Amino acid sequence: MSRPTVAEIRIAALKHNCSVIKQHHGGKVLGVVKANAYGHGLVDCAKALDVDGLAVACIEEAVHLREGGVRAPIVLLEGVFDPKELTLVGRHELDIVIHREEQVTWLEQASLLLPLRVWLKFNTGMHRLGFSIDQLEAMNARLQACSSVKQVVLMSHLACADDPESPMTDQQLAVFSSATEAYECERSLANSAASLAWPKTHFDWVRPGIALYGSTPVLDKSAAQLGLQPVMTLKSQIIGIQSCKAGDSVGYGADFRATKDMLVGTVAIGYADGYPRHAPSGTPVMVDGVECKLIGRVSMDMISVDLSPIANPIEGMGVELWGENLSVDTVAQHANTISYELLTQINQRVPRRYI
Ligand SMILES: *Cc1c(COP(=O)(O)O)cnc(C)c1O
Repeated sequence: MSRPTVAEIRIAALKHNCSVIKQHHGGKVLGVVKANAYGHGLVDCAKALDVDGLAVACIEEAVHLREGGVRAPIVLLEGVFDPKELTLVGRHELDIVIHREEQVTWLEQASLLLPLRVWLKFNTGMHRLGFSIDQLEAMNARLQACSSVKQVVLMSHLACADDPESPMTDQQLAVFSSATEAYECERSLANSAASLAWPKTHFDWVRPGIALYGSTPVLDKSAAQLGLQPVMTLKSQIIGIQSCKAGDSVGYGADFRATKDMLVGTVAIGYADGYPRHAPSGTPVMVDGVECKLIGRVSMDMISVDLSPIANPIEGMGVELWGENLSVDTVAQHANTISYELLTQINQRVPRRYI
């Protein structure tokens, strides 16, 4: 046996979460699989998703999908960074986002075998990527006239859809609707949060990411309340048990001190696997199905847990860092971050086991 640290990926949960999205939106779904499918494994997840298209952040991810045998439409969410990438875009029949004028010019100058579908992105208030509303008409006209373009989809991105109290989503929606209503084009605005909580933003295509992986995209509801199931369960084992007396310290910096005699379990996972180094003492860790607490600093390859809640702890006991019995959203709250970061940080040292 090798190191017991693995990320189990439940494909049935991924499919289930996709069906939850489809219960909310009857139109087309673009499954967002950027960043190695949020850490879950790009090709395996892409093949399991029954969607109308997939979205990635860069051409390397798209080529990886094509080489893995994925034939579905794939959108490059930031488009191309350089006109040379258009050769690969053409060869692999990718869709590209167009968000700045140079990308239009590159496309006009390219000679592609087949015309592409392009996603014309404009800014409705987030101010991250995209043309201004004033530029939309001219850019659309140039793209519609370009021989390398077969279809234009109009898109924008929401900044605050996770927050049901924020007025921003309605404001962005109003801007998006009025800017696009004169065009015949298909439209896309919604991320996971909007797919589940803001039906008016759905238009033709929704673009869920995090919800597919079973973490909540909204501030006011848990994943379970939304009917989402965790896809990744991050597991390891107790590989050592230390008996500490009151006053003994645990781990680097001697940050944690025992206030009573206690057993401390050492778990084979650390920040070099992607477990967050800034997770503080008190972060929940499931040991043998019982909730325990992280103590002391997270090391590169190990963490320590207080085994007090366990009746008869032994080495080899199973540990769950997050997943089926402990929501990644709960761990993220303790670690003062979001599930997106935790999931995408789990790296290549942790084997994915598909079940
Ligand atoms: C990442 C991304 C999404 C998915 O966002 P989630 O919050 O994970 O649903 C949708 N659209 C764009 C443009 C993105 O970059």
